[in-house]
Amino acid sequence: MIVVKAGGRALEANLDKILESLAKHFKLGKKLIFVHGGGDTVSRYERLMGLEPRFITSPSGIRSRYTDEKELEVYVMVMAGKLNKEIVARLQALGVKAIGLSGADGALLKAVRKKKLIIVNERGRKRVIKGGYTGSIKEVDVEFLEKILDSRYLAVISPIAIGSEHELLNVDADQAASAIAIAAKAEKLLILTDVEGLILDGKLIHELRADDFEKIKEKIGAGMNRKVMLCVKAVKNGVRAAIISSGLIEDPLSAIEGGRGTRILP
Ligand code: ADP
Ligand code: MG
Repeated sequence: MIVVKAGGRALEANLDKILESLAKHFKLGKKLIFVHGGGDTVSRYERLMGLEPRFITSPSGIRSRYTDEKELEVYVMVMAGKLNKEIVARLQALGVKAIGLSGADGALLKAVRKKKLIIVNERGRKRVIKGGYTGSIKEVDVEFLEKILDSRYLAVISPIAIGSEHELLNVDADQAASAIAIAAKAEKLLILTDVEGLILDGKLIHELRADDFEKIKEKIGAGMNRKVMLCVKAVKNGVRAAIISSGLIEDPLSAIEGGRGTRILP
């Protein structure tokens, strides 16, 4: 099984090619789980609904969306609705039996709601704020996923989880993909984004050993730092290889066969 995640910008710029690539590999008999992002689309709809999207940065430099009750409504509408169903419909058009699920469906992704968040403000000062509706994934229903894949469906998963009080929660899509890959003992995790991979000092890093991450993590900027961290976590927890690669190219899933992007190895 292969878990593929694509970020919102890559999806917006190259949706057809990404879905064609998924369809091609699905038809070759691969078991595929596709996790999509879509932050920019959520932001656009928030603005249409009179809300201003907010982003926060943690002390370790991880940047994420802040989601209050109103923002969660838009988040769920766009992620589980518009984006997920558009992807499902387009995959069907390509002859793929696709099924769209949020992490709340079948309680596929269970998360713990973050009560408090430590953030760093513009002046570099730490501050504690209420957690809003953001969660950390604690459990993945692998059996449910396997049933879907064994029935020869391609699962399209939106980054929403269900909390311990049955509340819907925003979960980061990279985290969702990594958690699913670990729980399902996926052979590969492929994260497609809008750059070629991890770039350090202007050069693409082709291979990174998980143990070398600590030495370079401070040098990686927002967005990529989270991906590399989650890929390291995945390969340290049984996923054989995690690859961060461009989603802007023709047949981006070919990166799993080698060569392209940054490969994180255990
Ligand atoms: P996605 O929507 O795919 O999740 P993100 O914006 O969250 O994309 O993360 C990808 C971004 O990370 C890239 O567009 C790039 O600007 C940024 N980035 C920061 N540091 C690096 C780095 N060292 N190498 C590559 N990209 C980096
Ligand atoms: Mg991102």
